[in-house]
Amino acid sequence: MQKLDKINAMQSAAAELRSAGRRVALIPTMGGLHAGHASLIRKAQEGGAAVVVSAFVNPLQFGPSEDFAKYPRNPSGDAQLCEKENVAVLFAPPAEEMFPRGFSTHLQEEAVSKHLCGVSRTALFRGMLTCWLKLLNIVRPDLLVMGEKDAQQIAVVRKAAADLLLPVEIVTTPIVRDADGLAVSTRNNYLSPTQREEALAVYASLRRAKEMVESGVKSTDRLVAEVTHLIAAKRRLRVIYISVVDRHTMEQLREVTPGQCLMAISFWVDEVRLTDNMPL
Ligand code: AMP
Repeated sequence: MQKLDKINAMQSAAAELRSAGRRVALIPTMGGLHAGHASLIRKAQEGGAAVVVSAFVNPLQFGPSEDFAKYPRNPSGDAQLCEKENVAVLFAPPAEEMFPRGFSTHLQEEAVSKHLCGVSRTALFRGMLTCWLKLLNIVRPDLLVMGEKDAQQIAVVRKAAADLLLPVEIVTTPIVRDADGLAVSTRNNYLSPTQREEALAVYASLRRAKEMVESGVKSTDRLVAEVTHLIAAKRRLRVIYISVVDRHTMEQLREVTPGQCLMAISFWVDEVRLTDNMPL
């Protein structure tokens, strides 16, 4: 595995893979790699692609009061996981390599990104898209692999890719959960055992919503009310949003449209912000 931190070295490595006839898959991450990221790597390798993982805590997507400085970083763990998963290149540039002083161009999607996380995290999708477009231009991958854990991120990237005709195939993989049901996330490292215990109520309530849909409930108001009620029983949880949305536009729905929608949740466990979702 090559471990690179310079853009020109990454460009050469990707060009070499392409000229050796390999399809190249890019998996953008913020590092702190875990089983969720590993599932993306395996998905990319299923079709024989050489995998480039970027591990970059992107300063552009954090607001001033968010956790950029203390976001969990683990470069040696990232390298170990990538070695084990036969990643071709781990690209971990420093912030000034990606966004040197004077960087002044941004990419903003203006519909899908306005909902859900975009309401309170106004820097998130603009910062993410700007960073990802630069990564796409550096690596020029055939495939871009993303996890359904971040359903809105997928929808925003698909919309931007369609609007701008980005020449990349987008592949997604289901949410990986720990044995207790908590969606695996780098931010789970912040949780104490008690906080984690309470956070589990979120997955339980999403499953409850799915059961209700399976037993014929269509009204999204009823689903949201039930889930809100279950989560409110937990002392440390504070809901940021619970919404049933169209999976492409992220617009709120009044009725469940099976196969087309998901329930999305974002919540605080004390001071830790987590998200989860469930296709309905
Ligand atoms: P992050 O490092 O959190 O920015 O995530 C990088 C990529 O990994 C994104 O496409 C995420 O959706 C995906 N990912 C993170 N956690 C999971 C998970 N538990 N299951 C599936 N994909 C995930």
